[in-house]
Amino acid sequence: MSSDKTVTIVGAGPGGLTAAISLAKNGYDVNLYEQNNDVGLRFNGDFQGLENWADEEDTLVILKRIGINTNFLCYPYNGNDGHFVGPKLQKISVKTSRPLFYLIERGSNTNSLDQGLRKQAEDLGVNFLWGQKLDSLHNQSAIVGTGPKAADAIAKGIVFETSHKNIFIGFVNNKIAPKAYAYLLVNNGKATFATCMFEDFKNENIYYTRSLSVLNSVIDINIIKPKEFGGFVNYFNEPIISKNDKILYVGENAGFQDALWGFGIKYAMLSGYYAAQSIIHELNYFELCKKQLFPKLQTSLANRWLFVHLFNTGYNIILNKIGRIEDVIPALRKHYNTSLSKRLVYKMAKRWYKTRLIDKKCMHVHCDCVWCRHGKLAH
Ligand SMILES: Cc1cc2nc3c(=O)[nH]c(=O)nc-3n(C[C@H](O)[C@H](O)[C@H](O)COP(=O)(O)OP(=O)(O)OC[C@H]3O[C@@H](n4cnc5c(N)ncnc54)[C@H](O)[C@@H]3O)c2cc1C
Repeated sequence: MSSDKTVTIVGAGPGGLTAAISLAKNGYDVNLYEQNNDVGLRFNGDFQGLENWADEEDTLVILKRIGINTNFLCYPYNGNDGHFVGPKLQKISVKTSRPLFYLIERGSNTNSLDQGLRKQAEDLGVNFLWGQKLDSLHNQSAIVGTGPKAADAIAKGIVFETSHKNIFIGFVNNKIAPKAYAYLLVNNGKATFATCMFEDFKNENIYYTRSLSVLNSVIDINIIKPKEFGGFVNYFNEPIISKNDKILYVGENAGFQDALWGFGIKYAMLSGYYAAQSIIHELNYFELCKKQLFPKLQTSLANRWLFVHLFNTGYNIILNKIGRIEDVIPALRKHYNTSLSKRLVYKMAKRWYKTRLIDKKCMHVHCDCVWCRHGKLAH
């Protein structure tokens, strides 16, 4: 980064915005390039979840610790606010000692996470360069948080209005969401329903139609003014986090993504924070990520491998098991934390998993484009 305390950031997603907020709070001048004319245009006002099971610390405490205010819709959902539905359409409730997740909205609406972060960055004087797609950095130092490059998993769904009370429902069933899950999130008159897929993308419409009919068979919900949306995520088995120590990749662009379920927001924000901290305190970004983020990422890939091999029979067994647990939060956390067995599974999963990276033009050895993958590997 330049010695005059000016930092360039590319991409105003949760990763880039968190980095911008941290740097601006520490007296840096930040130029943030965003290809669109607003934040959140990758999304459609759909609800997402900030997971609250992978860490000992509550997610809101983590956000506070990294200097992020919750000036956006952030609504806690406990176990008793919803349930899970298995392949046999059995309903499983879980018990939780704290919120399972915080519902947030994505997109450009006033209460979205994206707008909340934009406001915090603007209040700190971050200089937004709207409508500027930066594809090359010409040897310049920067933080790059440009989001996913490929689809390792996709989602297709609707956002709609409803008079149904607040509820969440998670569906696991390979007939409607191959190797993934479908979800319903209702909050104060608005709702999101989507099905996710980790394979067989070409049949997304079939899975979506089936998932809608499963939804209608398990809940009586009125769907008003539905609007379709879709999206994709990518994850790497080995995140690529920097190039020549000059370009620091954050968020999904670096492959920071929960390989099990696609809960990438927390990773994006934390990696943005660590990239900023590495500049502010002259720390090694790679070492920070190695300590703070890689172990969970690796475990998530091990979990993905295990999940893929469960099939519907396995989902039934697991769901019945978690329905009997006194508090599902520590049980889930245990599965997200590294252990000898998870490390062994990870080794296997690493060989098994092939990323669907498709942006071949960015594979050049001496390429200085912001998507270039010839950076520093996590290992
Ligand atoms: C349908 C769907 C549901 C999801 N649900 C959840 C969920 O419930 N929980 C969860 O934790 N995660 C969820 N995710 C994943 C989560 O949204 C992402 O992991 C997260 O947004 C990644 O943040 P990011 O900052 O890395 O990138 P992004 O949010 O993708 O932001 C990247 C930004 O960079 C900009 N940009 C890209 N290229 C350039 C360029 N060359 N120049 C300038 N600007 C550029 C883009 O316009 C964008 O604004 C979901 C994803 C999808 C698609």
